[in-house]
Amino acid sequence: MPEPFSLNAYVCRKCDGRIVTRNCHVGTTPFMLRCKFPKCDGVMESQFGSLKAVGGIEPTYEWYRREDVLDMTPDEFRHHVNGGVFLRPIVKERDYKPTKAQRDSTRIQRDLAKRARARAKREKPQ
Ligand SMILES: [Zn+2]
Repeated sequence: MPEPFSLNAYVCRKCDGRIVTRNCHVGTTPFMLRCKFPKCDGVMESQFGSLKAVGGIEPTYEWYRREDVLDMTPDEFRHHVNGGVFLRPIVKERDYKPTKAQRDSTRIQRDLAKRARARAKREKPQ
């Protein structure tokens, strides 16, 4: 099982395309993937964490544990309960757009902090 944050490369048999993945969470990763390059229906194979294959390339995908169990297909669920992790593109901080729920939660946090400060001010002995 790979270490957290460890890197791996997957290379396509057909187009020779290469992606580098990192581990966000520890879990079982597959040996083969459908090619991530547009217009290629090839299969990418794991390079088993070979540093030579990673070759200093920035990771663009990460393996993560899913929590949305109810949205999983039976195959995904089987993979999940067997300790499997799922692949997602890495979102760069500058491209990151919070979801509505995250924006709402930030707003609520800010509001609570503001109220707490106002309360502390009121309760401060003169
Ligand atoms: Zn390919």
